[in-house]
Amino acid sequence: MAGVLLVVGFTLVSCGGDDKDEAKGKVVVVYEDDAIAPKNRHAVEVVRKARVLEQAAEWVNTSLALPHDLAVKVTDKVPPGVEDAVTQPDGRTIYVPPEFLTQVQGIAANVAKTVERPTVFPQDKYNADGLTALSTQFIFGHELGHALQRQLMLANLGLEEDAADGFASFYTVNEVGSAPSLAAALVFDELARKEGRMTLEGLSSDHPVTQARVFNFLCYLEGSDPKKYEGPLVGARYLPKTRAPLCPQAWAMLDQGWWTQLQPHFAAAFKDQGNKNQEDARAHLIAETKAFAERLDKFRSGQ
Ligand SMILES: [Zn+2]
Repeated sequence: MAGVLLVVGFTLVSCGGDDKDEAKGKVVVVYEDDAIAPKNRHAVEVVRKARVLEQAAEWVNTSLALPHDLAVKVTDKVPPGVEDAVTQPDGRTIYVPPEFLTQVQGIAANVAKTVERPTVFPQDKYNADGLTALSTQFIFGHELGHALQRQLMLANLGLEEDAADGFASFYTVNEVGSAPSLAAALVFDELARKEGRMTLEGLSSDHPVTQARVFNFLCYLEGSDPKKYEGPLVGARYLPKTRAPLCPQAWAMLDQGWWTQLQPHFAAAFKDQGNKNQEDARAHLIAETKAFAERLDKFRSGQ
């Protein structure tokens, strides 16, 4: 499991020179039932019933104009060496291997058994199946982030893996709610424990260190609504007090960043709503930056 979310180290992007007016790509989720090993069928059923892949596909299809189709293949028939959910370099195929979903299910089962439920996490979903579906929703958001970056050739100002994690937060926090971020944080925390001491490979990965990703997921969630999440996440010590003051502005930057990056690619029917979302996110970022400046001296002197 060393490379959960591992999406190859490729830096290749598609460079199609396609005319945006022809943009009519659709995201289609395909379960290749004949290519799903019997031992992996349970985890696939959990994800399929929760419709987490389909929901994300619908959001993209409604909101964005993609230049190419995007096939999401749930299949054990994957290219050589693929063990985790991956996005191909051209952003036109995402593989979600059932074997990987079974591994997530194993980690989720351990979380449900050994970790106390955060109070903000829905009780009826705090079990192996619920955690599997919700963390897969977040992980799939990460892969969609890669696919969008590559198909739309979005400008990256940092590592692609960071941006992919950012899209998972942006999409799930705005469109689904808190549960996918929380489930992913719990599952990655368990994974970090399994990984044990950091290795050279872990530290030099193009992905942020697993334990750091846990806090990034929680930080964006907390920052999206500090009034709601400060008690359950910071007060209950899931997110350290040293990080929390940075989170409202960090979320505001992420939210404004993604709406702005996606704006030239909004589907025609989504333009009014999308433009409004972008304007709101921009106003929110300006307000948060001002508020952050006002509390900065207090925060620095409390470090
Ligand atoms: Zn990735």
